[in-house]
Amino acid sequence: MTELHSLSVAALGFRSGSATDTGLRRAGNEDALFAGFPIFVVADGMGGHDAGEVASARAVEAFASLAGAAHVSPAELRAAFDGAARAIAAILPGGARRAGTTVTGAAVAEIDGEAQWLVFNLGDSRTYRLANDRLEQVSVDHSVVQELVDEGEIDRAAAAVHPGRNIITRALGAGGVYRPDYWLLPIEPGDRLLLCSDGVSGELDNEELRAILVSQPEAQTASELLVNAALQRGGRDNLTAVVVDAFLL
Ligand code: MG
Repeated sequence: MTELHSLSVAALGFRSGSATDTGLRRAGNEDALFAGFPIFVVADGMGGHDAGEVASARAVEAFASLAGAAHVSPAELRAAFDGAARAIAAILPGGARRAGTTVTGAAVAEIDGEAQWLVFNLGDSRTYRLANDRLEQVSVDHSVVQELVDEGEIDRAAAAVHPGRNIITRALGAGGVYRPDYWLLPIEPGDRLLLCSDGVSGELDNEELRAILVSQPEAQTASELLVNAALQRGGRDNLTAVVVDAFLL
């Protein structure tokens, strides 16, 4: 057993990489991302015409306002979320479907002197953590199939191919319920986070994601490999991956 140290944010360094691609079936890319210490976010927009593109971009802009801070408090993150919700509510309806977006990611927080990942999620984009070569999905999808899994109606394998897997139950805008989830996880040196849209997690299962993340130490290259692997699987949706590494200074 290694002794657990309580590390401040100042004791840690962070490196990130990102990649996004329209994919092979969609006309435009409605995903958006921001990766700049201490805030990392992926958004997957939805809505007719260019509404989805506008929604994901506005959401990401609201979170990007936190960039450059020494760390982010839970209250500051909530305020950014509320700002994103207001920005999306202000988008004029341009088509039959209302503009909306998923949002997931992590802020670097310091709680009682200890560096923590403040993970957030609304919708079915995902935040994973790779620690000691083990990959765990931190965020929980807000989707119809996740509800069926929670109720024991179907298992994970059935959920991955369920015809209703794209139906989300919470979102920013688009008539979705505005109720984000938050998690606080102590940051350990060597932690690697993966943020991705469902275009990536829909093409690659957790073991495939893990194998790529473990094989490539460089965050930018790892992000590109993830998107390229999902493209090779068919790239049926827009594809976005952000990889964030924490290390001891
Ligand atoms: Mg998508």
